[in-house]
Amino acid sequence: MRTPTPVQLLQIWERGGSASAAARGLLLLGCCGDAERSAAELAALPLGRRDALLLELRERLFGDAIDAVAPCPQCASTVEAAFRCSDLRLTTPADDAPTLAHDVSVQGMHVRFRLPDSSDLIALEDCGDAGAAHTLLLERCLLAAEGDDTYGLSTELQAEIAEAMAQADPQADLQLAFRCPDCGHAWQPLFDIAHFLWQELHAWALRQLREVDTLAQAYHWSEAEILALSPRRRQAYLELCAP
Ligand SMILES: [Zn+2]
Repeated sequence: MRTPTPVQLLQIWERGGSASAAARGLLLLGCCGDAERSAAELAALPLGRRDALLLELRERLFGDAIDAVAPCPQCASTVEAAFRCSDLRLTTPADDAPTLAHDVSVQGMHVRFRLPDSSDLIALEDCGDAGAAHTLLLERCLLAAEGDDTYGLSTELQAEIAEAMAQADPQADLQLAFRCPDCGHAWQPLFDIAHFLWQELHAWALRQLREVDTLAQAYHWSEAEILALSPRRRQAYLELCAP
């Protein structure tokens, strides 16, 4: 993985302005990409693999420490918790195991499936409701089905498949541990690194533009010239022209 430049990051931020969370995740991966992976290959990475790579990118861009904030579901207090990217990475990005096909057998039916990926998330965006999305996801991920299909994909079989998917790719369903200091309630909210990293990128991008604006007004340099300054030199100029 290579670390994107500030210019590349601003381009990603601009292109992803009205994109979905899944598409933004792909934009982020594309900009740090090793050239061997095409856009189609990135879209076909199981979500856990995608998230492990996004956690690595996050560490490169903004450091290992993550300060997360969530409202307590019990008393609505704002609860803060600190995590590390390294603690949240369950599989290494080089781990190929989750890309394999998986098997589940229930009531004489045997099915083979693959793990959900970004292309599935993008395909599900047009689904009106959660039930339709669930059915479409199963259809897309099913590779083969054999046996007594009198009942089709029974509710029980669908539940087994969902459970097997979660077990095969735990990185895709990352839960954080929160405890409210006010009421003692403990809960485990899901952590969506694609969403979280995009929010951080958005705040970072607005800060960059504010700094470009300040320096351009003071020194009449172009955006490209200001973005090419080292962080230290840029900071020094910002301090010099501060009122
Ligand atoms: Zn509480």
